[in-house]
Amino acid sequence: MTQVLQSDLLAALQARTPCLWLNPELGTPLPPGAPSPALIEEAERRIRRYEPVLASLFPELHETAGRIESSLESAEALKVALGQGDDPGAWLIKRDDSLPVAGSIKARGGFHEVLATAERIASAHGVMTPEDVPSLLISDRARELFSTHSIAVGSTGNLGLSIGVMAAALGFDAVVHMSRDAKLWKKQRLANRGVRVIEHDGDYAVAVEAGRKAAEADPCCHFVDDERSPLLFFGYAAAARHLSVQLEQAGRVVGRDHPLFVYIPCGVGGAPGGITYGLKALFGDHVHCFFAEPVASPCMLVQLAALRDEALSVYDIGLDNRTEADGLAVGQASRFVSPLMKSQLSGIFTVTDDTLYRHLLIARSSLGISIEPSAAAAIGGPGWLGGSVEGKRYISMRVPPFRESTHVIWTTGGSLVPVEEYARFEEHARGLAAHFGVARD
Ligand SMILES: *Cc1c(COP(=O)(O)O)cnc(C)c1O
Repeated sequence: MTQVLQSDLLAALQARTPCLWLNPELGTPLPPGAPSPALIEEAERRIRRYEPVLASLFPELHETAGRIESSLESAEALKVALGQGDDPGAWLIKRDDSLPVAGSIKARGGFHEVLATAERIASAHGVMTPEDVPSLLISDRARELFSTHSIAVGSTGNLGLSIGVMAAALGFDAVVHMSRDAKLWKKQRLANRGVRVIEHDGDYAVAVEAGRKAAEADPCCHFVDDERSPLLFFGYAAAARHLSVQLEQAGRVVGRDHPLFVYIPCGVGGAPGGITYGLKALFGDHVHCFFAEPVASPCMLVQLAALRDEALSVYDIGLDNRTEADGLAVGQASRFVSPLMKSQLSGIFTVTDDTLYRHLLIARSSLGISIEPSAAAAIGGPGWLGGSVEGKRYISMRVPPFRESTHVIWTTGGSLVPVEEYARFEEHARGLAAHFGVARD
């Protein structure tokens, strides 16, 4: 077989040894046809425009008048709990685990795509124009129209929760294709909201493909394609501006003397890729974005590090894509997102399931937050950067001398996890701690 990756990297990935890979192409020009930042602004405007609609659809959004946003909080206690208290940088945590309605980062991309699709269908049928009052989107005429259309998605769970719940709330026939081993509580939650769940044998890609096929046969079905959707991507990218406002409010400057480091869990790449795209448009070279992937599913790493410009999956290098991080269990990275990340992403680190659980427990004990395993993937980010040979190499090569840095760790899901399920996470994590003696309480 011809060589697909550099041999030492290939060996580390195959041995499932956690590592930090630095992207040698960082800073090269974006590919021709890369989307314009104007599309990010369009997504931001669309999301803001429908806030009153969302507030009337979901009681949990009354308080924020329909705003779907998460807080940016201090993570200094986490820094201390991880034994990195002497790191002079400021640590913050971006709480997408608590995004309302969907309970995960998928609210950002998913709600945007459903709103854009509803707007498009309503306009095409003369129910409203994009300039009309937004409340026409929830008029009786719109609801009647949407009941003759379906919105479908293939998902391991969280994207289904986001798309399914929003589509059903607007009156669409909402269909979620899931792998059979997707979490039962996610399937039940969808069924309770009137979403049709269709189960498939196989992994995430099989569920997506099945959904895509089913939708192709039906002209009244819009398929949300997690592997290549620009509408999802721009919904995620819209997160960047609000983060910049939150950083300012927290007194954190971003600039030449004040670099910003951001760490985000990565599955197919849409969520972390969109956010990176948005942050790069705002902060350019002053922001450094790193993704976190499970050792069993480093699909973006494999794709970006591939020696040839062809699709490369984790299966191709003998990994099995089996991880407790169900939100990140993706074998093949998005071929829409990976070319964009080639010039923008600083690097990717991998994480074992044991570390996910250990970090889940530390997040609980130090910050009092309950996150799902996928959402804990980025917690090791600052440690990789400051404490590893590769991380130090990155700082010396890519970051001009600075006064003070800010680290933002993105926690991406968890608030909807049922308490019994979370108790099982904790129990498992404590079992590991007892065995290895590594987790603190
Ligand atoms: C989906 C998901 C991610 C990653 O998003 P992708 O777009 O798949 O890269 C991260 N964390 C959680 C909890 C998720 O559900």
